[in-house]
Amino acid sequence: MERFVLRGAQVLYGGSFGEMDVAVEGGRIAQVGQRLNGDVLRVEGYLLPGLIDEHIHGICGSDAMQGAQAVEAMSRSLVRHGVTSFLPTTMNAGVEETRAAVEGAKEVMRAGSPGAFVAGVHMEGPFLGEKYRGAQDSRANLPPSMENFARLAGGAADVVRLITVAPELPGAQDFIRAATRRGIVVSAGHTDATYEEMEAAVGWGLAQVTHLFNGMNPLHHRAPGVPGAALTLSGLATQVIADGVHLHPATVRLAVRSGANILLITDSMRATGLEDGVYDLGGQTVYVSGGVARLAAGNLAGSTLTLERAVKNAMRFAEIPLEEAAAMASSRVAASLGLNDRGEIAPGLRADLCLLGQDLEVAKTFVGGKLLFER
Ligand SMILES: [Zn+2]
Repeated sequence: MERFVLRGAQVLYGGSFGEMDVAVEGGRIAQVGQRLNGDVLRVEGYLLPGLIDEHIHGICGSDAMQGAQAVEAMSRSLVRHGVTSFLPTTMNAGVEETRAAVEGAKEVMRAGSPGAFVAGVHMEGPFLGEKYRGAQDSRANLPPSMENFARLAGGAADVVRLITVAPELPGAQDFIRAATRRGIVVSAGHTDATYEEMEAAVGWGLAQVTHLFNGMNPLHHRAPGVPGAALTLSGLATQVIADGVHLHPATVRLAVRSGANILLITDSMRATGLEDGVYDLGGQTVYVSGGVARLAAGNLAGSTLTLERAVKNAMRFAEIPLEEAAAMASSRVAASLGLNDRGEIAPGLRADLCLLGQDLEVAKTFVGGKLLFER
C-alpha cells in the first residue's frame, strides 16, 4: 500500500493546531507525530479533517433530485471546496421522484463516488409542516410513518442517514422512535413545534434541528419554540446556514455563544458556483440575484454557500478561531451522524483531509488518501 507523509502544515489534532507530520497509508491515516517515515509531501497552511456537508441540494448545475449522474457531478465539484463527505439532500417531492433520487444516490455509493464520498442521503421532506414550508412545495407533504418512508425510500432505505421531520405532526412520535431504532438520525425542520413538543421529541430520539431559525417558528420570550429548544436542550445538534443572508451575523454569534452544538451546512442549490439567473429547485422556479436565491414570492430558496466559506464566515460572525469553526463542519457533523471512521485527523480514520492555504482558501483535498483537488 502506498504510504506518504504530509509535512509542514499546522495540523488540527486533538482540538488544536500544531506542526506535525501526518502519515497516510492505504487510504487511512496511519500516524500523526514528528519526523515520520515515508515519501514526504511538503505542504503549508492548515490541515483540517475533510469537511462534511450533511445538507446540500446541489452545486454547479446539478441537483440531488436528478439522480445518480447529478450526485456524481456534485461529488466531483465538492472537492474544490474541501468537502470529502456529503449527504445529497432531497426536496419535498412525490413518492416516485423521491424514490428515484434516493436510489440514484445509492447507485453512486455502490459504484464508488468520483470525488467527495456520498455518506448517505438526507431526506428533507416530505414529512414537513405547512406553515413554515420555506421553499418546500407543501403539496407533497405526507404524514410521517414507516409505511410512507418505505414507499419513499424504496430499495435504498438503508442509505438514508438523516431525515427532517416536523415533530408536531400526527404520527411523528412513532416514526421518530422507529427511524431512530434503525439508526437514522432525525432532525426537526419546517416545523411549528412548541418548546414542550421539542422536549418530548428529544425523548423519542430527535437528535438535530434543521437550519436553525429558518423554516420554523420564531423565538419568543414566553414561547421559545423550536429555536429555544435548539439552543438549550442537550442532546440536540443544530444546523446553521452561515451565509450572512439566512441569518444575521449576530444571530450566528448568539447561536454559538449559547453553547449549542452547532453544525455548519450549506443548504446550497444548483446555482452555487454559477452566475445569477433563473434556476429550478425541486420543481419550483428560483431567481438568483447577487448570490441570493428566492422564489417569486420572496421566500429564500436554498443558498449559494460553499462549506469552506461557511467556516470562514462562522469565524468572522461568531468571533471564533479556525479550530472551532472547522470542527462545526467536520468532527461535530461526523459525531452527530455516527460516521465514526472520519471527521478528525487521527490514526485509523479515513485519510479525508482538507488543506487550507494561509489565506484560508482550499489548497488541496484528499479523499481516502487520494489527492483529488489541488489549487
Ligand atoms: Zn434544504
